Amino acid sequence: MSLPTHQNYVNGQYLANKTGATFDVINPATGQVIYHMEIADDFIKQQAIDSAKQGFAVWSAMDATQRSRLLLKAVALLREQNDELAKIEVLDTGKPWQEASVVDVESGADAIEFFASLAPAIEGNQQSVGDDFYYSRREALGVCAGIGAWNYPLQIACWKSAPALACGNSMIFKPSEETPLGALKLAEVFTQAGIPDGVFNVVQGAGDVGAWLSHHSDIEKVSFTGEVGTGKKVMAGAATTLKDVTMELGGKSPLIVFEDADIDNAISGAMLGNFYTQGEICTNGTRVFVHRSVVNTFVERLLERTRNNIVVGDPMHPDTNFGALISKKHHQLVLDYIQKGIDEGATLLEGGEALSPSDSAGGYFVAPTIFSDVTDEMTICREEIFGPVMSILTFDDEDEVIRRANDTEFGLAAGIFTQDITRAHRVIHQMQAGICWINNYGASPVQMPVGGYKQSGIGRENGIETLRHYTQIKSVYVGMTPLESPF
Ligand code: NDP
Repeated sequence: MSLPTHQNYVNGQYLANKTGATFDVINPATGQVIYHMEIADDFIKQQAIDSAKQGFAVWSAMDATQRSRLLLKAVALLREQNDELAKIEVLDTGKPWQEASVVDVESGADAIEFFASLAPAIEGNQQSVGDDFYYSRREALGVCAGIGAWNYPLQIACWKSAPALACGNSMIFKPSEETPLGALKLAEVFTQAGIPDGVFNVVQGAGDVGAWLSHHSDIEKVSFTGEVGTGKKVMAGAATTLKDVTMELGGKSPLIVFEDADIDNAISGAMLGNFYTQGEICTNGTRVFVHRSVVNTFVERLLERTRNNIVVGDPMHPDTNFGALISKKHHQLVLDYIQKGIDEGATLLEGGEALSPSDSAGGYFVAPTIFSDVTDEMTICREEIFGPVMSILTFDDEDEVIRRANDTEFGLAAGIFTQDITRAHRVIHQMQAGICWINNYGASPVQMPVGGYKQSGIGRENGIETLRHYTQIKSVYVGMTPLESPF
C-alpha cells in the first residue's frame, strides 16, 4: 500500500516543492512509516517569506474585532475536529488517546480563544506633557517564526500562533520533523475559518529549516520550544538580525514533599509529573525530594500505584494511559540514562527496561521507572532525560531542600506538597523557577503565563503577559506649541 505524501502549507494552500525531497514519518507505537513529508526547499522557503509578508500586510491592517472573530471561528473548528486531530497527534507522538482526546486540541483551542478575545482590548495610552502630549501605539512586530518540539505538536503550534496572530502578526511555523502533521491541520483550520492567505504558513524539515528561519532578515521574532542547546543556537541565529526571541526550553524541576503533605496527593503529583505523556513533558518534576520521615510510606504507595494503575499498550486503545517514546533514538537515550543511574549507584525500584506490549509490537516503549537513593551529583539528577524516569531523593530540613532544589542550571518549574500554608508560600517564593505549583503538579490553564528562569527560557507563553512579547510600542510625541530652539 502506498503511503500518503504531505506538502508544505503556504499562502493558504498546500504547495509542492521543486526538488521532490521528502522525509519519512514514523508511528512511535509501531516503528512503522505512516506517511512521507515534503521538505521545504528554496522555492518553498521563498514562497513562505513572500506569503507571510503579504499576509502580514492584510492581517495587521484589519480591525482587531474582525481578527478576533476569524480566530474564534478557528477555535470552533478545532473543537469540532477534536477527535480527528487528536488521532493525528497520537499517531505522530505515541502518546495515549486518553490524553490527546481531552488535552492537546482542547488546550490549543483554549489559547486561541483566550488571545482572540483579548485582541480588541490591545491598546496604547496617552499622557500630557505640559501643553504637548505623547501617545503610544502597541503595534504588531511583522512576520514571526515558530519552531516547535515534538511532544505537544498541535498545542505548541496553537500556543505560538494564538498570541502572534491575535496581535496582528503573521507566522511561519516549523514543526519538529518527528511530528509534522498537526501544524498542517492547524493551517487548514485557519484557512477554513477565513483567516487570510499567508497569515499562517507551515514549512517542513529538520534543524536546517529552523536555522534558516532564525537567521532570516525578514523575520522579526522567533518563538522556539525545544532543548536548551538548540535554543542557544536559535538565539545566536536570531542575534544576526537582532530578532526578538521567546525561548521555551528544558528543565530538571524539583518536586518537594514535606512531612506534613497529603501523601496520596503528593504521589499523584509525582506520577503526573513523571509519567504523564510517558514522561515527555518539559516541566516534569523529575527530582522528587521527599522528607526522610515519610519516604518509606511515599515509596511503598507510589510503587503500588505504579504497578497497579499504569496501562502500557497501543496508544489508541482507550484504556492505555502510558504510550511510546517518540523515536528509536530517544528510546535508546532514555535507556542509556537508566543504565547510568544504575552504574552511578542509584537503586532501581521499578521499571528500567524496554517494553513490547502485545498490542503494539515494534513500538518504542520504556517502562515507568523509579530510582531511590539518588544523590544530587548523579547524571540522572542533573540532566534532562525527557522520559519516564523518576528520581527520589531524601531531605531533612527546609533550608537544605531549597538549596538543593535550586542547584541546577535549569529553572522551568517547581512543585511543593505541604499542608502548612505559611511554609508553602515561603518555600515557593524561594524557588528559582518560572512555573510553580503548590499541592498540584502540571496544571497549565491558558490564563497562567508559563516560561523559564535561568537557562530554561526567555519570555512567556499564555497569560496576558504574552501580548507584550508579540507587540512593540511606538511612542508618538505631538507638539502643540511652537518649538523652542537655540538655532
Ligand atoms: P530540539 O531542540 O531537538 O528541537 C526543537 C525544534 O528545533 C525542532 O523543530 C527541531 O527540528 C528544531 N531545530 C533543531 N536544530 C535547530 C537549529 N539549529 N536551529 C533551529 N531549529 C532547530 O527539541 P525536541 O524536539 O527534542 O524537544 C524536546 C525538548 O523540548 C526538551 O528539552 C523539552 O524540555 C523541550 N520542551 C520545552 C517546552 C517548554 O515550554 N519549555 C515544552 C516542550 C518541550 P527537528 O526536530 O526537525 O530536528
